Amino acid sequence: MVRVHGISVHGCSVDAETRCAHYHSVLDIIAIKFFCCQMYYPCHLCHEAVADHPAQTWPADHFHEKAILCGACGSELTIEEYLACASRCPYCRTRFNPGCARHAPLYFDTPVIR
Ligand SMILES: [Zn+2]
Ligand SMILES: [Zn+2]
Ligand SMILES: [Zn+2]
Repeated sequence: MVRVHGISVHGCSVDAETRCAHYHSVLDIIAIKFFCCQMYYPCHLCHEAVADHPAQTWPADHFHEKAILCGACGSELTIEEYLACASRCPYCRTRFNPGCARHAPLYFDTPVIR
């Protein structure tokens, strides 16, 4: 477990900006809170490796809750904010990996975004 801007992030080889053993490019700087355990992980593979239960996706009626952590500035985005942010933090304007958006259905009960 690592603290990123004071928030606990669980997973494999997590760094101070939420990169992990699976996703560690310069743009991989978000962690996602999982609906099942309300804990932040850098990615679904980290959750699979470390958590003792299957991952659950966020139901659409919870999209107003904060569930994405920007590793650059430490802001927590709501799921609505993240899905609308076009792979850029709305607070510090740092770019996120646009590839992450394609994985959104692994975390959120939402159709695939292209
Ligand atoms: Zn979980
Ligand atoms: Zn990972
Ligand atoms: Zn930010």
